[in-house]
Amino acid sequence: MAKIVLVLYPDPISGYPPVYARDGVPVVPGYPGGQSLPSPSALDFTPGELVGCVSGALGLRTFLEQAGHQLVVTSDKDGPDSEFERELPDADIVISQPFWPAYLTAERIAKAPRLKLAITAGIGSDHVDLDAAIARGITVAEITYSNSISVAEHAVMQILALVRNFVPSHRWVVDGGWNIADCAARAYDLEGMDVGVMAAGRIGQALLRRLAPFAVNLHYTDTRRLPEAVERELNVTFHPDVHSLVRAVDVLSIHAPLHPQTYHLFDDKLLASMRRGSYIVNTARAEICVRDAIVAALQSGQLAGYAGDVWYPQPPPADHPWRTMPHHAMTPHVSGTTLSAQARYAAGTREILEDWFAGRPIREEYLIVAGGQLAGTGKESYTAGAGKASDGQR
Ligand code: NDP
Repeated sequence: MAKIVLVLYPDPISGYPPVYARDGVPVVPGYPGGQSLPSPSALDFTPGELVGCVSGALGLRTFLEQAGHQLVVTSDKDGPDSEFERELPDADIVISQPFWPAYLTAERIAKAPRLKLAITAGIGSDHVDLDAAIARGITVAEITYSNSISVAEHAVMQILALVRNFVPSHRWVVDGGWNIADCAARAYDLEGMDVGVMAAGRIGQALLRRLAPFAVNLHYTDTRRLPEAVERELNVTFHPDVHSLVRAVDVLSIHAPLHPQTYHLFDDKLLASMRRGSYIVNTARAEICVRDAIVAALQSGQLAGYAGDVWYPQPPPADHPWRTMPHHAMTPHVSGTTLSAQARYAAGTREILEDWFAGRPIREEYLIVAGGQLAGTGKESYTAGAGKASDGQR
């Protein structure tokens, strides 16, 4: 029997279960491109329930405990005295979500001799030291596509929030004001702007499709060019590199994975090459940007706004400068954990566990590392030799 350590974000401060705003979530027919939805044999929760927090336990408790496995669920994940680190020495499986990542560094992997499977309930396994996982023969899997559309929708919202100056305008209403000139002084239409997408993978392409009806001029870069037919359909201009892209746009949305080529890519120099008054939305990973370079660019006016939902570390300390920098529309890391998204990635996590316990292969598209090498989606999206997972020290 296995010991599974499940690291999830804390319950709502208003208590669990919450009062739900709606009575369910729509069932989508499948993913763009034909990938099918997760298909576990059963679910022990109703889609639309909050399963991503500790009490929700991804809806896995009954399934795992009835099969005789030991399930530990905790949100206490950071530092050597954390419950996560205390439970690691005899853990067989670790599951965590990017929104509340249990950083699986090489040091922690060394403390977990029985660990064989690390599941990311969501997308983005950069909180796992993939080199260490490769060296130790640990399988790493994530729920590919489960929240890609959720993130693309969040990016659309944050682009509009920045360009239309939504957050300060909303604040005037809450504060009892009617200061139209103050709201309008930084509000623009998106129509006609040059909008760029850095990395047109699953999320980036979904964003391009959602932005096309706004009558903007679309641009993108990616290591692999989209098929000509797709470029024509979306009327999107390809740029061979990020340098060319950022010079050509008013709004830039980042959708590349965090790896050595993207780590701290957006530094003072790259930001200075953008048009004055550009907007950046980053729902990919915070460390693609240099934290203080973003703050300085907002203060100087080089950037007109910055938004996103990814921070470093997560959760960020109370004095993280992105909480208070000017003209930002940041949220906590929530874009990929809507109730709609978590229904899918909780089901995908169960599918992986069912396959693992039955000795069946895990779906190729869910694999990041297997058999001591990058595998499946990991072969396309990650780089071996990437170095340490983020661990709060860098
Ligand atoms: P995909 O793997 O579908 O797409 C990523 C794309 O980025 C690929 O086309 C890849 O090309 C390209 N790419 C990689 N490196 C570069 C580079 N240096 N320059 C330009 N393009 C590059 O990933 P997704 O769209 O599903 O997700 C993107 C990222 O979004 C994830 O890695 C994750 O970090 C983040 N994410 C955030 C979430 C949130 O809740 N905020 C939820 C889900 C994901 P190639 O295939 O050739 O390498």
